[in-house]
This record gives sequence, structure tokens and C-alpha cells, in this order.
Amino acid sequence: MASIEERPFLPFARADIGDEEINEVVAALRSGWLTMGPRTRQFEADFAAYTGAGHAVAVNSATSALFLLAHGLGWGPGDEIVTTPITFAASANVIVHTGATPVFADVSRDGWSLDPAQVEAKKTAKTRGAVVVHYAGAAADVGGIEQALGPGKPIVEDCAHAVGTRYADGAHVGTKHPGAFSFYATKNVTTGEGGMITVADEAFAARLRSLRLHGISQDAWKRYSKEGKWYYEVLEHGYKMNMTDLNAALGLVQLRKAEAFNARRREICKRYDEAFADLPLERPTWVSTAAAAAHLYPIVVDDPARRDAVIDGLSARNIGTSVHFIPLHLQPAFQRHYGYKRGDFPNAEYFYDRTVSLPLYPILTDDEIGRVIDGVREILK
Ligand SMILES: *Cc1c(COP(=O)(O)O)cnc(C)c1O
Repeated sequence: MASIEERPFLPFARADIGDEEINEVVAALRSGWLTMGPRTRQFEADFAAYTGAGHAVAVNSATSALFLLAHGLGWGPGDEIVTTPITFAASANVIVHTGATPVFADVSRDGWSLDPAQVEAKKTAKTRGAVVVHYAGAAADVGGIEQALGPGKPIVEDCAHAVGTRYADGAHVGTKHPGAFSFYATKNVTTGEGGMITVADEAFAARLRSLRLHGISQDAWKRYSKEGKWYYEVLEHGYKMNMTDLNAALGLVQLRKAEAFNARRREICKRYDEAFADLPLERPTWVSTAAAAAHLYPIVVDDPARRDAVIDGLSARNIGTSVHFIPLHLQPAFQRHYGYKRGDFPNAEYFYDRTVSLPLYPILTDDEIGRVIDGVREILK
């Protein structure tokens, strides 16, 4: 569609990187220690303190965090792991990479996260656990899913949208079960690329620290420092998934701003909520409750053609949007390998056909928020 907009492109996502972040990265560069080192350790300690998790293990992405957890829990060939189709490929790809089979279950109409009743319906003798996504930063019903799975079925929490999200009892997500957080460029707290594992068990944390760096003995990253030793042992066949101190430098500063970032995100959601009250769409009021990290603002337009009109109309107004997510059971690789097809998950498909995510990030100006609101109103009125 031809552009009808003179104003500059308003991106769907944009990180808030200030002088503090830049100075900390420069300090890391000047320190001479570039890869995993003191800043990564500090970031881990800060993240564990912030979330109340027993242990935090920094890695190079949430995908790596999810994979190391799935592998560390011993999931593999013959196992079925339940997860949601409304997620990024990572949540299910990591299951595939352990050799286990991803089994999708439909989402609930209220919040679009895994529905415990649907999880129960997909349970078989081979079910070994689940990957639960806290979609858009709102806590999923992990308690319900735990009950649906029954005892001895570990849950991995995909907390990629959920730095700062709390359960109803006030505990952070990723503290009742192992959690995987993302610091990808578009996420609420960013290190460019990066991720964090949270676990309660000390021995499991130690194993994950080893697995992220070739399975070598725990302090091997220090081997080039003054207190380091040249001798190390490869304890098991691990991976190369460590964070670097350059990424951690960003994360240290960003994490201190997490609460303020999330508060501003919720404020923007409230403005959208008010502005769209009379339009033919469902507003995601559940992303901006006090306990949610408000990562996304996915509206559900009453009609698929009108949803497409919102995407095209905002694009013509130089405003970026996105769709979270194309359900994984509609993706070619999952259809080819597991036989999924359209019709398998009615709620996920209803959502996919009608949703569009609007720009939502702390450095959106009031004028920019106004542009988004005016655009959506003009298109849908
Ligand atoms: C972004 C995202 C991931 C992957 O995060 P990376 O850090 O890019 O690996 C996983 N799950 C969900 C739901 C995501 O949105």
C-alpha cells in the first residue's frame, strides 16, 4: 500500500539504551575481559536477587536456556513434551533437538496461554513434562498445568516475555519451576542477544554452568585469569552457550531499570485500553495488570479481514506492527514431521486470524502513542 504518511517510520520495537549502558560496555571493553567473566557473574547474582530464584545461569539466548533445561532434565527420544502453539519456534524446537516429541495443546481464550484442560487431554503414557510460555508477559496457569500433568512431570517456564512477571502469590515466574528468560533486542530487558536460566537446585545449577561451556569443570572460564589454572576436565559433552561480559554489561544496567520499564509499558497499555474501548476488538487488558511485565499489546480484531486492514493501514501510516505468533502447528516443519494441520487448535487459530501486536516500549513518546491510537481508530471506525 502506498504511504499516506509523512512522519518518520515508527518501529514495532526499539530498545532503550542510554549513556549508562554505553559506559558500562565501554568499561567492559577497557577492562580487557571480553568473554564470560566478572560482569556475567554480577549479572547472574543481580538476576537471582531480583527474581528471588535460588540460582541464575547466564547464557547466550533464551533458546539456549530452554535447550539446556530440556537436555538437563533428561528429556529425549520416546518422550512427549506438551507446549503451546502460540509461541516462538524456540519453545518447541528445543524439544525436537533433545530427540523428544513436541505435543501441542490448545490455548485458553482468556490470555491465550496453555489451557490446563487441553494439556490434560493431550496427556499420554509418554508425557514427560511441559514447556509453559508466559505469553505477552502475563503469568500462565502453571498451577493448573502442574495438576493436569500429575506428579513427576517437570515443567520448564518459557519466561522470554516475562522479566518482572509475578504469580498471584507475588513470587516471580521462573521460581516455582526452572525458568528461561530472554534478553533479545526486542525484549523488556535486553543485552542484544542473551538469556538467563533460573533454578532452585544448586546441583542442577552447577551442571547447567558446566553444560553451557563444553561440559568442562565449573571454574574453567577463569583459566586465563591470574587465579585460574591450566588444568580442566571435560565432565560431559556440553555446548558453547555462555554469555559474554559485553552482553552482561548491558544487562547489569538494563536490569536496574526493569521495574521502571515495565511500569511505563503498563501505562502505555492503559492508554491503548482507554482509546480502543468503543472499537470492534478485544483489548488485552490482562497484559497490564500490576503483576504482568506487559511485553506485548496483542489486540484481537473482530474480523480477520479487518485485522489485515489494521496491519496494512498502520503500515501505510509508517507504523510497524507484528503478529505474535503464527501458530507452530501451521509451520511447515511441524506439519511435515508431526502431521499437524489447520483445524487442530481452534482457539490458537481464532487468535492468529484476528490478532495484531501494536508498538509497546518505554521510549514511545506520547505523540507516537497518539499516532498509533489515531491510526487504529481511523482504520476501524
Ligand atoms: C524471544 C522468544 C524466545 C527466544 O529468545 P531468544 O533469546 O531469542 O533465544 C523464546 N520464547 C519466546 C516466547 C520468545 O518470544
